[in-house]
Amino acid sequence: MLDCIKNKPVFLFVQLDEVDGAGHHNGYGTHEYFSKITEIDGMVGRMYDAYQAAGIIDDTLFVCIADHGGINHSHGGWSDTEKRVFFAASGRGVTGGEPEFAVTKDISAVVLYALGLDIPDYNENGYSSQVPEGMFDDCDKPYIIPEAMLRPVFRQTEGFDSPEGFGKLFSSRINLCMFMDNTLTDESGRCTVTENGRVKFYSNGVRGETAEFGKTGNIVIGGLDFGRSFTFSLWLFADPGLDGSACILGNKSPERGQHQSEGFNLLLRNHSVMVQLGCGNDDTDSVTSFETDGYSGWVNIAVSFDYDNLEITTVINFDRKHIDTVDKKYFDALSSGGVFTVGDDVNGQFNSGRNLIFRMDDLIVFEGILSDKDLNILKKYYS
Ligand SMILES: [Zn+2]
Repeated sequence: MLDCIKNKPVFLFVQLDEVDGAGHHNGYGTHEYFSKITEIDGMVGRMYDAYQAAGIIDDTLFVCIADHGGINHSHGGWSDTEKRVFFAASGRGVTGGEPEFAVTKDISAVVLYALGLDIPDYNENGYSSQVPEGMFDDCDKPYIIPEAMLRPVFRQTEGFDSPEGFGKLFSSRINLCMFMDNTLTDESGRCTVTENGRVKFYSNGVRGETAEFGKTGNIVIGGLDFGRSFTFSLWLFADPGLDGSACILGNKSPERGQHQSEGFNLLLRNHSVMVQLGCGNDDTDSVTSFETDGYSGWVNIAVSFDYDNLEITTVINFDRKHIDTVDKKYFDALSSGGVFTVGDDVNGQFNSGRNLIFRMDDLIVFEGILSDKDLNILKKYYS
């Protein structure tokens, strides 16, 4: 095949099927699957080098795409892991960046465009392949997104503070409420949310969509009042493939050697939830383990900081799992950390530096401790 490139082909299509094979055989997202991707990636690199050696790389559009993803040992379903693929292109006129919208069948229009051939008009029931908007700097044809594929902003509660609104379901006041449904809005209207990088949204959330944090983006929350006691509630996608620990949220640096920093962090570490607390000259952890096998996929985690009793309570899937008593000095230092960050550490470096991503849904911060009654309301809301 590398010999074929020496002959300077006008058009070359190469299918590398082994990644899919490794997924079927070993499971998608497994170590073997990723090893195969690395191997195939090397082959793609050699093809690119061959184009360079043939002296035609400057006049070549190099496109790389997968036809589908996978889950467990198969694919063909509706989950994002199966449907969503990467799409990479380099060559003359390619602008870089990420297109707002593109589907796999757009490859055909991209090829026609690159070869300087006519692209048939868009027809929803006929030829519907289009050049993704903004992909080439010399193509300004508007992209038509089919009605059926427009992702609406799904609002779970109309009138947050109305008598029937989500904000009035609980006896505790809500100080932050993010449903992560294709938007980073705080439904309570009490906090400001600033996006750093890019937070991505996917359709397979708990109720509505879900947001992806880490490597590509995180958010900083302003104006969050922790008060004396408070509770976090959130859904996390417990990915068994998650390597090492991910910093879910907090205002303290989780890096080793910086234990002197004040504030707190919530970390997901393999099969455990860890709350890190620092008071400026000392630190401590409250660790609660859970079995991901029992909760394949989404896990609800609620952590209460009870100032009156100096307790940290971790609730997993609406069951109180663990209570730790910690020194008052840690409680006093809780709000003394840095900017409150969700999706990475306070420096925005812990997850992104490790190329970690994770998905989170419905982040809610309650004032005070969740009573049994509130916990039941929450459970009922999600059942
Ligand atoms: Zn397959």
